[in-house]
Amino acid sequence: MAVAVAGQHGGRFPDTEEGLLSLPGIGAYTAAAILAIAFDKPATAMDGNVERVMARLHAVTDPLPGSKPILRAHAASLVPARRSGDYTQALFDLGATICTPRKPRCILCPWTAACEARKQGIAEDLPAKTAKAAKPTRRALAFVLTDARGHVALRRRPEKGLLGGMMEVPTTPWEAAPAPTLAASRPHAPLAGIDWKPLPGLVRHTFTHFEFEITVVAGNAAGTGGGTDLIWVTPDALGDEALPTVMLKILRHALAKGA
Ligand code: SF4
Repeated sequence: MAVAVAGQHGGRFPDTEEGLLSLPGIGAYTAAAILAIAFDKPATAMDGNVERVMARLHAVTDPLPGSKPILRAHAASLVPARRSGDYTQALFDLGATICTPRKPRCILCPWTAACEARKQGIAEDLPAKTAKAAKPTRRALAFVLTDARGHVALRRRPEKGLLGGMMEVPTTPWEAAPAPTLAASRPHAPLAGIDWKPLPGLVRHTFTHFEFEITVVAGNAAGTGGGTDLIWVTPDALGDEALPTVMLKILRHALAKGA
């Protein structure tokens, strides 16, 4: 930053929004806070605390983040022409210590008489937030297969896509559909002719964009090894494999259910 101040601003720290925003690491909030607190200029520094105070003061029930422009306009209309630094600092302190997310201490607040949310008894409900859309649920059936030596069958996932190149327990496709039955899943089994035993319970895992529910079946191969795409791993060596958390959960579940 010192280089930018020396190079672009002739060694003088900028005192305009444009100048401050040209410095590395300074965004809109920091620029406004510097303008107000360091240079006593009427700038509107918006953070979560200020948004909360404005939503309550004006009883803005529209949810965030859509209500940000309204809250900013309310905040901007209150910035005084003089001593805006003191005002900004006081507003930060009010949001951090009195108009807190839970149990705001309205009795100590200088805006208690003016506050619309307090009058309506909805202060703790504000600011409203847009409900997050529920994640879709994908389901699959996982085949935990061991051979006569007790080795566990794994396979490598395709290089591209989710968990690309990592190891996995063979599963049916992960689909947003009802849980697959064992009968319908057999074409996806890693080896033919296995007597698959359904294990009780489900394995659940949360990915960023979906919830995953896995039904687990276990089976034992009569011989050793087999399956062209299968990699047979001793139980002791499972920890050395690039197994994602969801696959470790499936293996632990199978172990706990007596696979
Ligand atoms: S009166 Fe209560 S809810 Fe309203 S701004 Fe003050 S502390 Fe927040």
